[in-house]
Amino acid sequence: MECIFCKIISHQQEADIVYENEQFIVFKDINPKALIHFLIVPKKHIKTINDLKEEDRELVSEMIFLAKKLAIEQEIVEKGYSLTFNVGRGGGQIIDHIHLHLMSGEIKNE
Ligand code: 5GP
Ligand code: ZN
Repeated sequence: MECIFCKIISHQQEADIVYENEQFIVFKDINPKALIHFLIVPKKHIKTINDLKEEDRELVSEMIFLAKKLAIEQEIVEKGYSLTFNVGRGGGQIIDHIHLHLMSGEIKNE
């Protein structure tokens, strides 16, 4: 299996995991671009937003609700945060396994 995020999901590769349930794993970005930089990753391997199917509607909705829950836990609701999906190489996506960036505090723009 080549996908790095699938390796993290199956615990074959280490990551600083902050949350895990049946559907998702959330871990800290190895190269953080903000004081808080989490990656919210569905355990289902989907390459990009472009590859979403009708059946994935609920999964995507759950991702956003999970981001909201984590923002509450991290006490960044008042301060604010950014939620980003990079899509394709031109959109800054380097890992071909769908993920939502949750960032807050001193966010670095590329
Ligand atoms: P993308 O650019 O594809 O939207 O975001 C991928 C993110 O994954 C990047 O911010 C990068 O720093 C992070 N990343 C890449 N490889 C690893 C890894 O092995 N472990 C962790 N924790 N983050 C990674
Ligand atoms: Zn994968």
